[in-house]
Amino acid sequence: MQIQSQAARSILSKASGFISDFDFTLNPYSGCAFACTYCYAAFFTPTQALQDSWGQWVHVKDNALELLQRRRKRPLVDKTIYMSSVTDPYQPVEKKLGLTRAILRELLDYHRVHLVIQTRSPLVCRDLDLIRAFPSARVNMTVTTDDETIRKAFEPTCPPNAQRLNAIRDVAAAGIDACVTLAPLLPVRDAEAFAQMLVATGVRKFAIQHFHAARSRFVAGTGPRALALLTERRWNARHYALVKLLLAARLPDLREGRAGFAPVW
Ligand code: SF4
Repeated sequence: MQIQSQAARSILSKASGFISDFDFTLNPYSGCAFACTYCYAAFFTPTQALQDSWGQWVHVKDNALELLQRRRKRPLVDKTIYMSSVTDPYQPVEKKLGLTRAILRELLDYHRVHLVIQTRSPLVCRDLDLIRAFPSARVNMTVTTDDETIRKAFEPTCPPNAQRLNAIRDVAAAGIDACVTLAPLLPVRDAEAFAQMLVATGVRKFAIQHFHAARSRFVAGTGPRALALLTERRWNARHYALVKLLLAARLPDLREGRAGFAPVW
């Protein structure tokens, strides 16, 4: 894993596409050590070499805090922020650097924003003291399957889904708005048992999304490794639809696609 510091030109980007219901996206890092095989974020890297080596490098935006501090004179008021769209703000390097935590502190002290944190990492629980202080904040925990074999095939360097479920249980138990994002939903072994596991977390909100298959010059899609794994496992839109139907009947509030990610509290 190559970890480098790199100065960013900006830290807040206007949200667009799937998450255009937000005002801004905020990515403390570029690149991501979690290296999911299906990651669409890889397509937004500036060079083919970085795209090809996705998952093996992380660029730390070492001036992220400074860029935000410059906004103190023009504070953000009632803006919605999605953190993060092309990296995981709680990937392993965050444990040592605390950049995401410092950004939360700055946002809390000098701005008034509504925040959605998107992660696959239990490390988010470290920052519950700050997250609960926002006027509105939600933690979206991505949980992709009930099957560890599948998880290891598609997301070998991500935390196991059981750890993610424990973490989001703690988020909900702390009284913080919590959502499990089943996105993308990977092959599921036992949909009924999976639904029970999800309900047992105490979380009330769920979002679901099938793979983005289409890819063109302007539309990011699922990477070829993940597409090959899907074909191997014979998982397709019909299987997704069947599992979605069962989960919709069992989960208190399941929304699909953009509606599931929208900044609504
Ligand atoms: S955690 Fe998110 S950003 Fe990181 S590799 Fe996986 S899908 Fe991509």
